[in-house]
Amino acid sequence: MAPLAYRRLLAWSVAMKLSISVVGTGRMGSALARALLRSGYRTTVWNRTKQKAEPLATLGATVAGSVLEAVNAAEIVIVNVSDYQATAAVLHDDAVASAIRGKLVVELTSGTPHGARESAEWFAEHGASYLDGAIMATPDFIGTDAGTILISGPRQAFDANEEMFRALGGNVQHIGEEPGRANALDSALLALMWGALFGTLHAIAVSQAEEIDLGELARQWTATAPVVDGLVADLIKRTDAGRFASDDETLSSISPRITAHSSIFWS
Ligand code: NAP
Repeated sequence: MAPLAYRRLLAWSVAMKLSISVVGTGRMGSALARALLRSGYRTTVWNRTKQKAEPLATLGATVAGSVLEAVNAAEIVIVNVSDYQATAAVLHDDAVASAIRGKLVVELTSGTPHGARESAEWFAEHGASYLDGAIMATPDFIGTDAGTILISGPRQAFDANEEMFRALGGNVQHIGEEPGRANALDSALLALMWGALFGTLHAIAVSQAEEIDLGELARQWTATAPVVDGLVADLIKRTDAGRFASDDETLSSISPRITAHSSIFWS
């Protein structure tokens, strides 16, 4: 048998053996469940509002009537609810806590590094393996080559289930054993993202006040974005190297910008 065909068969058979439950089928949880179903995993879903989980049944998912049923049905439990308080509301129950023993829990809910560490301790106390992840993508990226998810926690638990993680996105990475690392990097990357999004609102307001067509703003931003990407990368690199003073390699120093842009903003 050709090696590639054999590898595909092996991947398929491993996928068929694993049962996965997705707890929380909002926008993101539904996308995670759809990606698992597309890759042939036996998938059980549970959602507080059951109607939101039901469309997944037409794709082959089993809709559990309770969290306990979902946990019992799977070897791996993926959690994706609003926040860690919601995770605790769902899983911190005596029957669920005892059912979770021996399973792998993958927490993909957004949270803080501290929340991830606390969570890792709770699952360790209850005999479960635990990986904590940060999804750096919107639901339409899940299951695609460009889907990025950062995972922290025991490397061995990630490696043993890499095939499943690949089903969720082509760019799923283990970034360290310390459980809070994925959420820490998430906070850092979201700071960049929100800065850009709030900046966009400001750019729209300036354009509208000056009767600049928003299509023109979009076109000019496409041309300017690579320059901004370069400046962001440069700032990170300079900080890493401790090069804070302006020198020959400086692309753009802040002093002329403060003078020029404060006059733009305040005039
Ligand atoms: P969403 O569509 O609003 O779904 C929220 C989910 O959390 C629903 O399943 C909801 O259940 C459940 N939930 C909330 N409180 C609960 C509670 N106390 N008990 C049980 N279930 C509860 O949000 P989402 O976009 O899927 O986001 C889910 C997580 O993914 C968040 O942590 C978010 O930050 C993260 N994330 C999302 C995106 C994105 O682009 N959407 C990107 C990266 C990360 P009900 O249906 O019953 O309300």
